[in-house]
Amino acid sequence: MSDSTAAQTRRFDAEVHQLLKLMINALYSNREIFLRELISNASDASDKLRFEALTREELKGCDQDLDIEVSFDAGAGRLIVVDRGIGMNQDEVVENLGTIARSGTRRFLESLSGDAKKDARLIGQFGVGFYSAFIVASEVEVETRRADEPAEAGVRWHSTGEGEYSIEGISREEQGTRITLTIREEHRDLLSRWQLERIIRHYSNHVAFPIRLVELGAEDENKEDAEDANKQVINDTQALWARPRSELADDDYKSFYNSLTGDPEDPVSWAHHHVEGSQSYSLLLYLPGQAPFDLLINRDEREGLKLYIQRVFIMDAAEQLLPRYLRFMRGVVDSADLPLNVSREILQDSPLLKKIRATVIKRSLDMIEKLAQEGGEQWEKFWEAFGSILKEGVIEDFEQRERIAGILRFASTTSDGKETVCLDDYIGRMTEGQDTIWYLTADNLKVARSSPHLEAFQRGNIEVLLLTDRIDEWLVAHLNQYKDKPLKSVSQGKINLDDDAPEPDEAARKLAGRVKKALGDLVGNVRPGTRLTDSPGCIVDDEHGMSLQMQKLLRQAGQEVPETKPDLEINAGHPLLLAMGSIDDDRRFEDLSQLLFEQARLAEGGELADPASYVRRVNQLLVEALTAGGASSADKDSGSGEDANATSA
Ligand code: ADP
Ligand code: MG
Repeated sequence: MSDSTAAQTRRFDAEVHQLLKLMINALYSNREIFLRELISNASDASDKLRFEALTREELKGCDQDLDIEVSFDAGAGRLIVVDRGIGMNQDEVVENLGTIARSGTRRFLESLSGDAKKDARLIGQFGVGFYSAFIVASEVEVETRRADEPAEAGVRWHSTGEGEYSIEGISREEQGTRITLTIREEHRDLLSRWQLERIIRHYSNHVAFPIRLVELGAEDENKEDAEDANKQVINDTQALWARPRSELADDDYKSFYNSLTGDPEDPVSWAHHHVEGSQSYSLLLYLPGQAPFDLLINRDEREGLKLYIQRVFIMDAAEQLLPRYLRFMRGVVDSADLPLNVSREILQDSPLLKKIRATVIKRSLDMIEKLAQEGGEQWEKFWEAFGSILKEGVIEDFEQRERIAGILRFASTTSDGKETVCLDDYIGRMTEGQDTIWYLTADNLKVARSSPHLEAFQRGNIEVLLLTDRIDEWLVAHLNQYKDKPLKSVSQGKINLDDDAPEPDEAARKLAGRVKKALGDLVGNVRPGTRLTDSPGCIVDDEHGMSLQMQKLLRQAGQEVPETKPDLEINAGHPLLLAMGSIDDDRRFEDLSQLLFEQARLAEGGELADPASYVRRVNQLLVEALTAGGASSADKDSGSGEDANATSA
């Protein structure tokens, strides 16, 4: 302990240094958030103490009347934030204030774009915490002591935010942490009662501990008045979720959401329930309108739903209370029936919590369903931000599969390109005799819309869902049917939409056989079919195998996928095929077969194994068609095509 009293100078981690520099520049215009961060740390530290005091004898009584004090001295240019929370020992100070220990912050740093405006918004959303003090301060001093250690175990940390900090052992009577900022000249306008009150109300109104604002060095005024004013609590510490709904206005819910999540935007909607009965709890759920920046990357998001027990914050319990496909939900659960000293392990298999979880899922889906039915801008915003995540539910949650599937919206051949069609709409529009929900998966809408696979469906006026989200391929792999109607891919297996369609004749089968022979190992099967009207050929997926689109996605994700040979369906009535039927030259037939196959792949948005030889073949045909000799042969070809057409008609 003795050497800890000598002041040491240490260097920050390179990352901290980077963050500090960035902070001061990018956040200049957003400077007020520093106070939100310091108060939120003070509140976290008080929460931690209250939680530990529940179970640890030596902390009994330490957690009474916890509060947070913000004091300022305009003359001296100082701002001080004091809490009586858990505090830190020397190792913790080094770990927490000298490095970037949290993986979240590291990810945040990696995601910075260098564009100051964009980065400032990111930081605002993300909450960069303690270091934001350096936005407004030229010097920061931290004095702290852990509530469960003696006074001599105090620590003083000091830095000017320029690469180094000093740390020394001190004696500190008070438990908890005191942070003193020396405010830069240009930010001293912040040091007034009305400014600070405004900022605290704006960002920290719902912090669960009383926040007092104290003006220092204003002694010349009437002393008693000043003291009274100094004692006022300026935030609303009442647990909003515990209050009856009838007492709360929309603005209360919105501002609580802002302070709960740090998201400055309004939530899209919320639901507030007090459940009474064999177990009682309160539930306040929010649908946000925008995704925190790391939501999509981070599937193990723990934050989102806070668990309170009789208004004592216990932990972030999204893991226990929310399935992953609802990880965008935000809110609070407050149970009256769980023991206060509950641990993560106990929570994991608490039947009580399982029940709450089921309710959270149900209520969340209720909200989303309602929003979907109302449609409009709010829904679109929600869908754009979280639609792909919600789809994971179809894959992960068997019990809710059909319900979630019913909420999803897709583009289709009858929609204007927007994702507005739900499966029930689709079923309502099915043509007579149609029993299948048809879909097409593709990389994007443009490729989807021009796919040759749609030709037969257009002819039959049958709607096809166009699925272009990366997750859709997995979605349909798990959603074999919806309300007893099978879902099928238009590119898979044999399709017979039209009972009256003529069976392929002998000539067509022979032609298909010849194409197969010409293509050899490049394809599995070649067969004449009824899918096509305008195109000469298309790739068909094996009815029971993995679709080409799925294979492509898996390969992009770095997985090894065994080569499977695609089938080729030909349109024997197409002029090209009719012309090919009368070609004797095997080499020429082979070239044309290759082209047919390559075109079918391209139309699919697929890639060619050998693009150069495709180009060579096309060029050769062009030259033949354009040179004198070629011109006559082209004449001949199209002539024989028409002839053949005429005979077949
Ligand atoms: P975060 O709060 O998101 O963890 P911060 O940068 O705000 O990140 O704080 C880093 C860490 O420093 C906190 O996790 C906490 O362990 C510690 N810390 C900061 N302020 C306090 C405080 N007032 N009391 C106790 N610990 C604190
Ligand atoms: Mg913090």
